[in-house]
Amino acid sequence: MRHVLILGGTTEGRSLAEALVAGAPPGTSARPEGDAAYPLRVTSSLAGRVARPVMPPGEVRVGGFGGADGLADWLREHRVDALIDATHPFAETMTANAALAAAASHVPLLRLRRPGWVPVAGDDWRLVASLDEAAALLADGPWQRVFLTTGRMGLAAFAHLDRLRFLVRSVDPPEPPCPRQLDTVLDRGPFTLEGERELLRQYAIDVVVTKDSGGSATVSKLAAAREAGIPVVMVRRPPTPEGVETAGSVAGALDWLRRRFA
Ligand code: NAP
Repeated sequence: MRHVLILGGTTEGRSLAEALVAGAPPGTSARPEGDAAYPLRVTSSLAGRVARPVMPPGEVRVGGFGGADGLADWLREHRVDALIDATHPFAETMTANAALAAAASHVPLLRLRRPGWVPVAGDDWRLVASLDEAAALLADGPWQRVFLTTGRMGLAAFAHLDRLRFLVRSVDPPEPPCPRQLDTVLDRGPFTLEGERELLRQYAIDVVVTKDSGGSATVSKLAAAREAGIPVVMVRRPPTPEGVETAGSVAGALDWLRRRFA
């Protein structure tokens, strides 16, 4: 039985595991009757950052591998036939490790990364290269109240901005170092436009900070900011390692696997 390892922690990682374990979702053709490529052994890997993650079907392992060498060892020991890096577009270290480990162990690798967001008429985006650059822009800007949606792991970059009041939304409570003036909302996407409008209004937000995560689950904040005429500080994505094959959707990843295992 062929073994697929999915580096997950994302909606796409979970959807891919669901499609491979339970059969293809409507509209895709990954698992027709009598397909010799199936059944598969499917393992999803989670970093262990979230206290109570939504578990994908199939086998699940939790925690780091111990760098690229550790991942390469794991791929060999567990006889992995294909590696799918479905981690978040900003999980830069894991993506780099996956590329190194796949090359070292000669396991085919696909980077599954959802497309980034594209501005539309009425958007006021300020593009920056990093969280530190976003913090520098806030420090020099005219704003008072920030909706910071970059996740609790990156809060340290904003911890010195004492003048500003931050609204932070995360799955688990933020840990220090955090900004001094901090309101916290514990929640997990998807988020609705109505909900985002209400948050912006309730906390009198005048600037939103986000990473270009892409996808539909957290896109409503951009529409709410546009409607309210609020600027968005948008952190650009890190690049995919050179030479790594990519797919922008679960359907694309299923097609890649089908070709690999044909
Ligand atoms: P990262 O900075 O790229 O990775 C740091 C280390 O965490 C890696 O070197 C690896 O440890 C471990 N790791 C990361 N993803 C892993 C996985 N799927 N399975 C096993 N180990 C993993 O990663 P990150 O940005 O902190 O993201 C961690 C997890 O949260 C990922 O699963 C990602 O998909 C998810 N996530 C991230 C974001 C974000 O904004 N960055 C947002 C939503 C979800 P070793 O070197 O020991 O192997």
